[in-house]
Amino acid sequence: MTEPDRLRELADEFGTPLYLYDLDRLDDARRDLFGWLPEEFEVFYALKANPHVDLVRALRGGEGRTCRAEISSTGELAAALEAGHDPARILYTGPGKTPGELREAIGLGVRLFSAESLGDLEHIGAAALAQDAVAECLLRINDATAQAATGVRMTGRPTQFGIDSETLADLAPRLRSVPGTSLAGLHLFSQSNATDEDALIAEFRHTIDVAARIEAELGVPLRLLDIGGGFASPYGQHGRRTAYPNLRAALEAALDTRFPQWRQGTPRLAVESGRYLVGDCGTLLASVTNVKTGRGRTFVVLDAGINTFGGLSGLGRILPVSVRPGPGGAAETRRVTLAGPLCTPGDTLGRDVEVPADLGPGDRVAIPNTGAYGPTASLLMFLGRPAPAEVVVRDGDVVSVSRIEHVRTYRKVAGEHD
Ligand SMILES: *Cc1c(COP(=O)(O)O)cnc(C)c1O
Repeated sequence: MTEPDRLRELADEFGTPLYLYDLDRLDDARRDLFGWLPEEFEVFYALKANPHVDLVRALRGGEGRTCRAEISSTGELAAALEAGHDPARILYTGPGKTPGELREAIGLGVRLFSAESLGDLEHIGAAALAQDAVAECLLRINDATAQAATGVRMTGRPTQFGIDSETLADLAPRLRSVPGTSLAGLHLFSQSNATDEDALIAEFRHTIDVAARIEAELGVPLRLLDIGGGFASPYGQHGRRTAYPNLRAALEAALDTRFPQWRQGTPRLAVESGRYLVGDCGTLLASVTNVKTGRGRTFVVLDAGINTFGGLSGLGRILPVSVRPGPGGAAETRRVTLAGPLCTPGDTLGRDVEVPADLGPGDRVAIPNTGAYGPTASLLMFLGRPAPAEVVVRDGDVVSVSRIEHVRTYRKVAGEHD
């Protein structure tokens, strides 16, 4: 069966909008990412990109190297545990960890945290102490001199993330002595979606230099150094994951210089990734509900809008869709605005998107590279449409079909009679 036929069959069976996740492609991404790195590296999968349990489980297990879980909420913790992750090996991150979630995470066995500030570290320590535990903490650093030139810059400017590097020397005595915590290392995350390998290498080199300097300033040995990520994958557009053929040698050289014992595990090393691991395993199938012209522009209205995909990224994102093969070679195409079903002009998936000229109601479109930042990064509840179906396949066979449900639950209030 051809790919378009297969997609049409799935859309017929399970309805649209529908996310299709192919675990064989996910395996390829995991294998590639480990392949770009020195063998000693561990990879944390950031569940933020897609917390679907089947994907999390596939990244953890199976053939090849296993990804650890990086989480930022108790919801993601539940997904990681359901996927079989050992809580003691999960990394818990985020700038606003509440006492309640810390209590729950420590109660469930999480022992490794990224601390974003002295206050955050103290909260982690208090929660650990209350349960007679010691929390291993990575200090997340906002390096004053981060030099990311591509992607989304995360450090070097004022943010809620990390401890300003220039304050570390003064803070060190207090950071070292928070009851219930043990400083285990450093966490730096300076960019996302780096499509330029040289820029990524430069950033990692810089990060390794910074970490070596900070180790001296803090006066504690690094056991684990998480140098962040930035591995790129296209988002809702055609294209392939970025290749990093020179990364491994560059990292080895930088580490040999700054951390001569790294091959013996001092420090242990890690990177983290979301989109690279899951982005290209996903395809979003949607149906055309209507085609109309308005003031000379053609609008193709789909049953999937920013409630299904891309709610996070706002307006005007261009999402080229793959086209149905026309009879007898290349079908004629035309450029249209792709709109979703919501009652807001913000529900536009793309302008000037090339689609088959005869695309009409009932036809399907497939949007590639939608495995990361899909349903859970969308405005799922806005205007009250059902969440998309999510279908997972392995070796061409459907292994699960699911849908996120939202329900409002009431609790009794004073004065209420039953
Ligand atoms: C979002 C995030 C990631 C994942 O980013 P990708 O661009 O999807 O790889 C990793 N680490 C941290 C700290 C993050 O906030």
